[in-house]
Amino acid sequence: MSATSLELKRLGGTGLLLSVLGMGTLTVSPAQNNLSPAAAGEILAYAVRRGINWLDTAHLYNNYAQIRAALDRLSVPPLIMTKTYAYEAEQVSRDFNYARRELGLDELTALMLHEQESPLTLAGHVEAFEALLQLRERGLIQAVGISTHSVSVVESLVRVRSDSSDLSIPEIYREADFVFALLNQTGIGLLDGSWQEMERAARAAERSGLGVLGMKLFAGGHLLSQRVQAVQAALSLDFVTSWSVGMGTKTEIDINLDWFCGREPDQKSLELTASQPRRLVIEDWCVGCGNCVSRCRSGALYLQRGRAEVDHSKCILCSYCAASCPYYAIKIW
Ligand code: SF4
Ligand code: SF4
Repeated sequence: MSATSLELKRLGGTGLLLSVLGMGTLTVSPAQNNLSPAAAGEILAYAVRRGINWLDTAHLYNNYAQIRAALDRLSVPPLIMTKTYAYEAEQVSRDFNYARRELGLDELTALMLHEQESPLTLAGHVEAFEALLQLRERGLIQAVGISTHSVSVVESLVRVRSDSSDLSIPEIYREADFVFALLNQTGIGLLDGSWQEMERAARAAERSGLGVLGMKLFAGGHLLSQRVQAVQAALSLDFVTSWSVGMGTKTEIDINLDWFCGREPDQKSLELTASQPRRLVIEDWCVGCGNCVSRCRSGALYLQRGRAEVDHSKCILCSYCAASCPYYAIKIW
């Protein structure tokens, strides 16, 4: 059955109502489509006017100017969910205040610990997590989350919420409001475990009261030839509140909105977007320093004959490597 507008769902035990489709903003950022604030603002504002009520960003994406340009165009602002790599309270404060200043906002909707790789990494981020909780207590953010590509991270968040004495992470993580997890039926991009295990863990997370957001439903472009099935599979996971999907054009927004509302998109638009898949490119000026190779947790990069090469079958277009290149030699087009 088709709906005229996107359904809204509550995120775990928070009071936040999210549209089931969220706007992943990495696509308009310098590391990907590199749109000007004006061009990006136009696209992001379009998504919001069409009913997408939250934007997924991160300190790393370096795109607050683009988001601010969208906010300037809108009378009703979207919810802003961002992420920090901070380990310490001071860095959380710096990242949070930077986001507020750049976005021209006093408060943000949610702040997450970015890219948590294992229970060990969570343990190492306790001070930052406590600082996030303090921001929530002061009413400066409404929710605190954990973003991850790791099954064991989601499992440990579930365990810490149960009465089990087998705590693999500090107890304070019981206070998390939601987890933002990589979920798709290829498992590409997972740091550990299988997609079935991630699905089980995320379902258990929702049952434990944690909100669940999903990312990478197209597996970083690997499921582009099966986009309808990928969206249907995503929507069948009823424990997920909402999906962040990176979209760089109004056409992509229209298509995803149609799918998420149960409608058939326009055939021409489908053909147009299918013929323009994104891909990671390493420019000729790569000097082979290897920074990107150690940054890629998917094992998609390697050095050969003095420069970086990419194994596209493993790349999920997360852009983490691009941010680590001192020579700006990595682009995703
Ligand atoms: S970080 Fe940049 S310069 Fe260094 S190997 Fe990777 S692409 Fe090349
Ligand atoms: S190569 Fe870069 S974009 Fe691709 S998975 Fe690795 S870090 Fe992400």
